[in-house]
Amino acid sequence: MDPKYSIIVPMFNEEEVIEVTYGRLKEVMDRQGEPYELVFVNDGSRDRTVEIVNRICDGDANVRLINFSRNFGHQVAISAGMDYAQGQAVVVIDADLQDPPEVILEMIKKWKEGYDVVYGKRLKRKGETAFKKVTALLFYRTLRSMTSVDIPVDTGDFRLIDRKVCDVMSRLTEKNRFIRGMVSWVGFNQTSVEYVREERFAGETKYPLKKMIRFALDAITSFSYKPLKLATYLGFALSLFSFVFLLVVLYQRLFTNMTVPGWTSLLASNLLFNGIVLILLGIIGEYIGRIYDESKNRPLYIVKEARGFRGGTEAGERHER
Ligand code: UDP
Ligand code: MG
Repeated sequence: MDPKYSIIVPMFNEEEVIEVTYGRLKEVMDRQGEPYELVFVNDGSRDRTVEIVNRICDGDANVRLINFSRNFGHQVAISAGMDYAQGQAVVVIDADLQDPPEVILEMIKKWKEGYDVVYGKRLKRKGETAFKKVTALLFYRTLRSMTSVDIPVDTGDFRLIDRKVCDVMSRLTEKNRFIRGMVSWVGFNQTSVEYVREERFAGETKYPLKKMIRFALDAITSFSYKPLKLATYLGFALSLFSFVFLLVVLYQRLFTNMTVPGWTSLLASNLLFNGIVLILLGIIGEYIGRIYDESKNRPLYIVKEARGFRGGTEAGERHER
């Protein structure tokens, strides 16, 4: 029988949590009492994650595994899950139990009321470092002020989407994917359920600073041109400033006999402007890099093995994109 619900779980080195996560998800979905599938996406883990999921797969016909050939990133793992999911409602949840599986039942209730997207809104974040909380707060607010798409603040990828939204998502071909922005962009009837983000159950974050920066840059460059416009605004402002400065210099030269000030001011302005020019070049580089990524047109991910799906691995090959 076709599953009614698909639960997508991206995993990167999650050997410590995956068994418990599976247990909690199974318990919640069994309670729901309708057919479902658990789609585990292994994003190139270097630990025993695959081994464990394979074992779970052996004993449970509701479990599927998509095994990437290497680490492609969290957002890509979710995308693959969406491509493969067969349910009428598709839920994305982190592997580390920070998003409580019980909230899925509330999401399903909203879905049955007729909503197409039900996202989880974090009321509180437990057990995360002050650094993570501050950067997250800044990130969501900055992003919001920069984009014209209405991306809700304090919302992660924990959400339920309807089949029709999932199909649209699979048709969006961009390589640098910021899923929550894309879901907002797609539209349809959206609503939220509130929850408290728990502590990671075990293990440590798979989002080190480097990945966080990459993620933030993808989010902003995918949904905003404002950083590019910065060049224009700064250009105008600096021109105006230079013009006034020129007048001052001319006045001094023609009408006063003040000695020429030292090279300090010269050097200072030189350094300042050089810095600004480099930053602007960097911004342009970020966009050009992404244009380059799109133009190479490589597949988004490569699946080494897919288990448990109707049609087996071949169906998997067809999904690859
Ligand atoms: N993840 C992934 N690929 C990556 C990094 C993370 O699939 O390259 C998964 C990870 O296994 C987890 C989810 O994405 O299920 C969120 O990661 P994590 O909990 O480490 O992030 P945090 O909650 O600290 O922001
Ligand atoms: Mg986490």
